[in-house]
Amino acid sequence: MRCENGIVFGLVLALTSSSPGLALDRVEMLPPQLLTKLAAKQQRISTLPQRIAGKPRAYAINSITRWQPGATVLVAFNGGNYELCSAIEQAARDWLANDVNLKLDFGGDTTSKTYRQWRPTDSNYVADVRISFGESGYWSLVGSESVSVSIAPPGVASMNFEGFDVAKPSDWRAVVLHEFGHALGFEHEHQSPNSTCDEQFRWDDDPDYVLTLDARCAVSPDDNGKKPGIYTVLMHPPNRWTRRQIDTNMRRLANSRAFLLGPFDRQSIMLYTFPDWMYKAPANNDCYISGNTGLSAQDRRGVAAAYPLRAEDVKSMLKERQDFYLELSSNAGSSSKYFEGYKRKDNLRGNNP
Ligand SMILES: [Zn+2]
Repeated sequence: MRCENGIVFGLVLALTSSSPGLALDRVEMLPPQLLTKLAAKQQRISTLPQRIAGKPRAYAINSITRWQPGATVLVAFNGGNYELCSAIEQAARDWLANDVNLKLDFGGDTTSKTYRQWRPTDSNYVADVRISFGESGYWSLVGSESVSVSIAPPGVASMNFEGFDVAKPSDWRAVVLHEFGHALGFEHEHQSPNSTCDEQFRWDDDPDYVLTLDARCAVSPDDNGKKPGIYTVLMHPPNRWTRRQIDTNMRRLANSRAFLLGPFDRQSIMLYTFPDWMYKAPANNDCYISGNTGLSAQDRRGVAAAYPLRAEDVKSMLKERQDFYLELSSNAGSSSKYFEGYKRKDNLRGNNP
């Protein structure tokens, strides 16, 4: 019966390779209410035409999910003292260090030692990115999903760092960089259309594996040393995902920054370290890494390409976005409400570097 408790939904990813056995100690998971809304959005997207304004559907959605080039993205905290908020700001700013036409405004005040705060009772958006520390796990919505009223209304967190306000974990900086990568519009590198992780993951159980639960009610190797596969592990506590949720969170994505960049990048901060049992041959594949702690050269090129400085690049990107909006808003109303927040942001923000 103990194993019926502790239900957790969401994306579970190991951040370190030190976890023993099949344990997934550090988790990145979206709360169930957000997962439900995102699933509804994905369902709407799947009904859109394959091409939008002449471009592949995934490319168009990916493009308008990012912020407008030149925008100032406002960030606010719910809780956290000045030192913690300052540490998160300094870590996140590394994304903008080289030739990136985007600003992050955290509302920090060195005189009063305060940062911009948002509250669950807010009825208007205090900020685009709303950080909390009180929910489970580390997670973030992707790009301007955080200001889509249908997904994350003003009083709802768009990013969470569980327990950072009590004590920061040793890898806190990598966690902040990873989650801000999502906030800037990037998906997981292991789901890149140019990655081969899909082929390298151990999806299925070893032959004749006998289902075995450990003291934490998680699936473990059986008495003969045979191991469960990814589906069996994630379908059981603490995650209890459906097969569809596993596919959504783990399988290759059609839309990613690969549209901007090309090859799979095993140095990316957006590539998580999964424990070795999740791979068919951990010692011999390019998906298995021992842990990236900083931005890769390609991460930096990617964010610069997503938010270009050159005026003509900005102009053509904005034109393209307008074309996507136009075609989306003329599409059946069932889908357009998922993009109203994105368009609103473009109207509100200037595009000056
Ligand atoms: Zn992530």
